[in-house]
Amino acid sequence: MDHPIRAAILPDYGEPVIISEVLLDNPGPHEVLVEMRASGVCHSDWHAITGHLPLPVPLVLGHEGAGIVSTVGAQVTRVAPGDHVVLSWTPNCGVCRWCLNGQPELCDRANASAVNGTLPSGAQRVVWQGRRIHTFSATGTLADFAVVSEESVIPIPPHLPFDEAALLGCAVMTGVGSAFHAPIRPGDAVLVIGSGGVGLNIVQGAKIRGAARIIVVDPSAVNRALALSLGASLVIDPNDDDPLSAILDVTHDDGVDVAFDAVGDPELLALAFNATRRGGTAVAVGVPLPNVNVAINALAVVSQEKTLTGSWYGHSFPPRDIPRLVTLWEHGMLQLAPIIQRRYGLEHIAEAFDDIASTRGGRSVIVWS
Ligand SMILES: [Zn+2]
Ligand SMILES: [Zn+2]
Repeated sequence: MDHPIRAAILPDYGEPVIISEVLLDNPGPHEVLVEMRASGVCHSDWHAITGHLPLPVPLVLGHEGAGIVSTVGAQVTRVAPGDHVVLSWTPNCGVCRWCLNGQPELCDRANASAVNGTLPSGAQRVVWQGRRIHTFSATGTLADFAVVSEESVIPIPPHLPFDEAALLGCAVMTGVGSAFHAPIRPGDAVLVIGSGGVGLNIVQGAKIRGAARIIVVDPSAVNRALALSLGASLVIDPNDDDPLSAILDVTHDDGVDVAFDAVGDPELLALAFNATRRGGTAVAVGVPLPNVNVAINALAVVSQEKTLTGSWYGHSFPPRDIPRLVTLWEHGMLQLAPIIQRRYGLEHIAEAFDDIASTRGGRSVIVWS
């Protein structure tokens, strides 16, 4: 493919994101050309823009996408042109220690792709102003087309709308997956701090796991209302109430069984830890800035047997887990449409990032009509 396409490019940290023409190579033997139909705009993209997530630049943004397979490399057998797909941003190798250990989300090769801003092969298929540039986590979905490795494409049924499908690629997989892998038992009390794209899906995942009480802390009225509609039983505005006191009040001073920080803030992660009961678990899901430490009470770790753990991409293996999410959606157990609060064309990408900067709530999705 040698005709120009549009892509959302971060030229350098702190600079405005621009929509610019780029040239895309044809896919390599194990790669796939995907015509993008929808791409969510995620906080991680925003962190790349601010430089808090120090990815190499210039960078094609976007890692939460769905589209149609356009062409495939000579060795690709898992998808064919015309297939509808969701993109995974962890194209794992299947043979490294982490993949074999059942933690494909920690794959050496996928991690290197993200850090280096390349495809797993090391290739860079996007040319901008005469130079090869980087892509966000081996995807770069905020573009008319994307060349990705075959491990990044997950087929989906054609009756799943693209804008809803796109969310499966990051926010839903991360949120629901983290709840599915946390020690939530039927009847448990669960705390979710931050109910944006990821937090709302922790709420949904916790509900599917059988949590009886789901408490949500979020300063955004839009996010609190969405959380209530998707399964939260109590929402707390931290500007009105001290969250820890309120949580201890409603749990008779025990605290919750499992707490999640979906924001990625050290104080909120400490709140999650402090709000768990003896023997409970706090899970870090939101991505904090690099080099930030969290202060928790060391004695509580021992004498109260509390666990503080992390969850990356919902501990997922997307080829296995995205079809599971689709099944839950098909049976009405997982809601996707309400999370989408705004839709824009790619040319309005700046407005979508302003939605994040202004914490307007829910997800903004770029769509191609
Ligand atoms: Zn994301
Ligand atoms: Zn691996």
